[in-house]
Amino acid sequence: MPNYRIAVLPGDGIGKEVMPEALKVLDSVGKLCGISFDYNHFDWSCETWLKTGQMMPEDGMGQLSQNDAILLGAVGYPGVPDHLSLWGLLLKIRREFDQYVNLRPVRLLPGIPCPLANKKPGDVDFWIVRENVEGEYSQIGGRFAEGTEAEGVVQSAVFTKLGTDRILRYAFELARKIGRPHVTSATKSNGLFHSMPYWDERFAAVGTEYPDVRMDQYHIDILAARFVMSPERFDVVVGSNLFGDILSDLGPGMTGTIAVAPSANINPEKKYPSMFEPVHGSAPDIFGRKIANPIGQIWAASMMLDHLGEAEAAAMILQAMMDVLSRPDAARTPDMGGEARTADVGNAISQAVLKGL
Ligand code: ATP
Ligand code: MG
Repeated sequence: MPNYRIAVLPGDGIGKEVMPEALKVLDSVGKLCGISFDYNHFDWSCETWLKTGQMMPEDGMGQLSQNDAILLGAVGYPGVPDHLSLWGLLLKIRREFDQYVNLRPVRLLPGIPCPLANKKPGDVDFWIVRENVEGEYSQIGGRFAEGTEAEGVVQSAVFTKLGTDRILRYAFELARKIGRPHVTSATKSNGLFHSMPYWDERFAAVGTEYPDVRMDQYHIDILAARFVMSPERFDVVVGSNLFGDILSDLGPGMTGTIAVAPSANINPEKKYPSMFEPVHGSAPDIFGRKIANPIGQIWAASMMLDHLGEAEAAAMILQAMMDVLSRPDAARTPDMGGEARTADVGNAISQAVLKGL
């Protein structure tokens, strides 16, 4: 029986409320598919930071490396500067474990009203592949001539050949794997003088290895408009760290609620554990009311199973989610227009998994 060691980091706020629902669903699917999980719980969070000045202990990365995958809730707390909690945990893990792919499905689910007029499930259904460790998010640069008339700041972006080629290749491979051989690249080579022409050049070069995959590229500004006007035309969209970041919030926004969207931080070579999380944050405004929607966290758990090679179990979770949401009387949290509580949604999906076979 396959057994997986999972590092469980609920983090802050509603991360603590949605995580138990994902574990509930994992246990149900594990029971059916003959998979078992050893959960290693870590309570690292902004509360840890407030007590110790660190988001994780000194040997934190060593502890995480003992696991097959990491399931993360959300990190962030009023009073703790975002950049400290991000660089101290999330970005640290992404970079040190070389999780250079950020993968997000953009899919309109049944029973969730789409903010775009006349769109139904099926019209909005594509993948965003974001470069996750280099590009515009660098610590290179700094202030100059401080305190003088000439004061300013430089922020550098770094695109290596290795880093650019491997994310583009991942996008092409994904397009083949899902049987939708079409990749759209986000660029801005008319404005960014050095980085984006290089990105375009590598897109063209890597693309020659995939003659069966259709290639498109759009400047980021018009691409954002096309997301909203004609989402049907996308299959796999690949972007740099900054462009991918923006598009991968726009995408879930187009599907009605960010609360259902998952995000996978992947090291495809499996040299290090990959990390799976919902797109949403710790939502301090609703924390404690037990009304947080757990679907983003549950979908993240499904992506984790897929990465671990348990495609069938992963698909069962997705199917159960779809089945539950398709029912008119489904348990829905307030963000989905209902009155259900977090645990009601988790229980419904967990039961649908068990009944599915
Ligand atoms: P962070 O800095 O942690 O990302 P944030 O305030 O920027 O926090 P979110 O925490 O994602 O972003 O919250 C944005 C809005 O979406 C809030 O109004 C929050 O209540 C709502 N929200 C986020 N996640 C959920 C969820 N799972 N269920 C219901 N509402 C949610
Ligand atoms: Mg936020």
